[in-house]
Amino acid sequence: MTVESGTRARDVVIVGGGHNGLAAAAYLAQAGLSVTVLERLDEVGGAAVSTQAFAGIDARLSRYSYLVSLLPEQIIRDLRLDIRLARRRYSSYTPRPGEDTGLLVDRVDSAASALGADAAGWLGLYEGTSRLARALFPTVTSPLLTRAEARRAVGDDDAWGAFIDRPVGETIQNALSDDLARGVALTDALIGTFAPNVDPSLAANKCFLYHVIGGGTGDWDVPIGGMGAVSGELRRAALRAGAELLTGAEATAINPDGSVRARIGDAEVGFQARWVLAGCSPQELARLLGDEPGVRGEGAQVKVNLLLRRLPRLRDARVDPRAAFGGTFHVNETWSQLDAAYETAAGGSIPAPLPLEIYCHSLTDPTILSEELQAAGAQTITVFGLHVPHRLSERPTYAGGIGADRYRAALQEEVLASLDSVLAEPIEELLLTDGDGRPAIETKTTIDLEHALRLPGGNIFHGPLAWPWAEDDEALDTPADRWGVATPYARILMCGSGARRGGAVSAIAGHNAAMAVLESL
Ligand SMILES: Cc1cc2nc3c(=O)[nH]c(=O)nc-3n(C[C@H](O)[C@H](O)[C@H](O)COP(=O)(O)OP(=O)(O)OC[C@H]3O[C@@H](n4cnc5c(N)ncnc54)[C@H](O)[C@@H]3O)c2cc1C
Repeated sequence: MTVESGTRARDVVIVGGGHNGLAAAAYLAQAGLSVTVLERLDEVGGAAVSTQAFAGIDARLSRYSYLVSLLPEQIIRDLRLDIRLARRRYSSYTPRPGEDTGLLVDRVDSAASALGADAAGWLGLYEGTSRLARALFPTVTSPLLTRAEARRAVGDDDAWGAFIDRPVGETIQNALSDDLARGVALTDALIGTFAPNVDPSLAANKCFLYHVIGGGTGDWDVPIGGMGAVSGELRRAALRAGAELLTGAEATAINPDGSVRARIGDAEVGFQARWVLAGCSPQELARLLGDEPGVRGEGAQVKVNLLLRRLPRLRDARVDPRAAFGGTFHVNETWSQLDAAYETAAGGSIPAPLPLEIYCHSLTDPTILSEELQAAGAQTITVFGLHVPHRLSERPTYAGGIGADRYRAALQEEVLASLDSVLAEPIEELLLTDGDGRPAIETKTTIDLEHALRLPGGNIFHGPLAWPWAEDDEALDTPADRWGVATPYARILMCGSGARRGGAVSAIAGHNAAMAVLESL
């Protein structure tokens, strides 16, 4: 290979310093390869970062992603990561709309007692997902199984039919009769995926599967110190192994021959690499290659972070707010509300009430707050609103510069209204004020995510999710094919969320891309 003068030769250039790019860098540098990571932002971590979001308030919030389920123990061990995850005491709480009662799920078992007639159906549902989790999760850091092999590994045709072949919404409808219990079960199929309750395309099934197999149990844990602590450890591992991490370094063009152009400060820098790993989205990779972008990604969520003086009181006075906020707090997420919200959004309007999931990090891990804030009883909550597809932001009312602010304001208003519908006091009255006298609330729409992180259409997974196996007739000729990280170009591999088995804070895509490179040596 000839290297132009002024061009730096590297074994591997990684475009995007999200947590996956860092994981790939750590593995490859550990194996003795020369590795450079290019990250356009001033810090690494991508969507897995902690931030002091409110001026003058010493609280470091997980700004985007928040819970960890799919990060394999093996990666933690291989890279000697000091990552601590805390299990939440409660699984979920969901108020019943129009009533001052709700469903508190302590653990899957005791959920059954609260579910009455649906107890057996609930247990049956989660016995099925446990079987999938135990069989499939151990395979995510190995070359892809074929569909037939994955089915054999699960060894349960009923579970396979219920969660893989048929729309998962149908399975939930068959197992449960209560509108609210059905909604709680269905939300795992809809986080980050805009789909109807019964989705014949099976996009909802893929989303559901990744939400229930993590760690072989499907538990979602709180990273101690916030999501920045996870990326911080991966950064440390990459640096310890000798990788070069360049921030403020934007890749501007990639050539299939392995050359990469980048803008670093005011300088244009060229690299010639044996392999280029794309930790950015497939759509961004296509842009850098000058290719057609393919299917355009679309996110369908709004994320709101709030810092409160204390937890709010609930309409349901029988439940302690510390229990309700101690797991996932579902708001306006019954089956029929999810159905109506989908229809409204598909028809071009913002749903009201907006279905929400709420998490309180500081109840499980107060270390993200200063001692003063902890002593004063402050809590941080983060809200994930569903069924607001990016296309809504492109309506004439919101399109263009100021439209983004109007869209953010409209979504924030709907989030607060939906939340207030289950509280005994308005949430806004509990917001702390920052050093500039502004309320401590920040809202991130799909437009914001596209601008800040280059997530296509604000899609939190970089694009549609794929099954964690290869189809039986798929060609698995190269290491990149076998590890699920191939692109049309031999030297260019996916190593981010857009790789097969990528979508989450899991470092799986980074690991798998690194394994494909090492297998090619
Ligand atoms: C709001 C939100 C909530 C989420 N919640 C969760 C959760 O609770 N749990 C979970 O497991 N997952 C969650 N996810 C998904 C998860 O965060 C992502 O799947 C994961 O962080 C992706 O990591 P990554 O390294 O592949 O990519 P990213 O984190 O997206 O990083 C890609 C990096 O590439 C950089 N980049 C892009 N283009 C270029 C370029 N041309 N040159 C240089 N750099 C470039 C970007 O700046 C970015 O830093 C959430 C995501 C979002 C957005």
